[in-house]
Amino acid sequence: MSPPAVPTSAFDLPAWLATAPDLPPIVQAGAEVLRQRASPVPAASIGSAALRELARRMVEVMRKAPGVGLAAPQIGVPLRVFVAEDPEERMSALSAEGRAARGRVGLSLMTVVNPELELLGSERAVFFEGCLSVRGYGALVARSTSVRVRGVDVEGRPVSATLSGWPARIMQHEYDHLEGTLYVDRMLTRSLSCDAELPRLAALSAEELSAALGLPGR
Ligand code: ZN
Repeated sequence: MSPPAVPTSAFDLPAWLATAPDLPPIVQAGAEVLRQRASPVPAASIGSAALRELARRMVEVMRKAPGVGLAAPQIGVPLRVFVAEDPEERMSALSAEGRAARGRVGLSLMTVVNPELELLGSERAVFFEGCLSVRGYGALVARSTSVRVRGVDVEGRPVSATLSGWPARIMQHEYDHLEGTLYVDRMLTRSLSCDAELPRLAALSAEELSAALGLPGR
């Protein structure tokens, strides 16, 4: 069953911007907006001051959290827009092995409106991920290691990128938000872990993790 689409007429972005805080709170799992299929941004809104302002607020909320991506539904806006950024300086705390295994390379700021996502190849990687809308937890999720994302930016200029490793994971996670899907829908359920446990678990090998969490068939 696919989630219901929000009617395009249902959301008035300028009105929302006029009343929402400058840094809107990140809505948490359980909110309906995270479970609906977001609506395409209408052509007439692309290049508008309102769309530019939405993207600006999204980037600020993402950076303040801090997170590596944010989809519009996460601040209560049911439109198909996401932002992503994973600066190099964020990675100083990670081991070289951990970075290499995850393909964690820097991702400069991207804003994608009305994205399309194509999974490339059949290779999958399983790593812990979390979500700003499921605060306090992380879990193992299998993701395609390579994707192509296409869309436009807030001005309507084409965006097209082929990404692998961690940036590919970010794209899949954010695109899922626009479809009303959360990582918990895709996770290995037995791997769900509190933030306090994650640094320890993330350092384990696949075999050690399977033993620690009783994961089936890994
Ligand atoms: Zn998320």
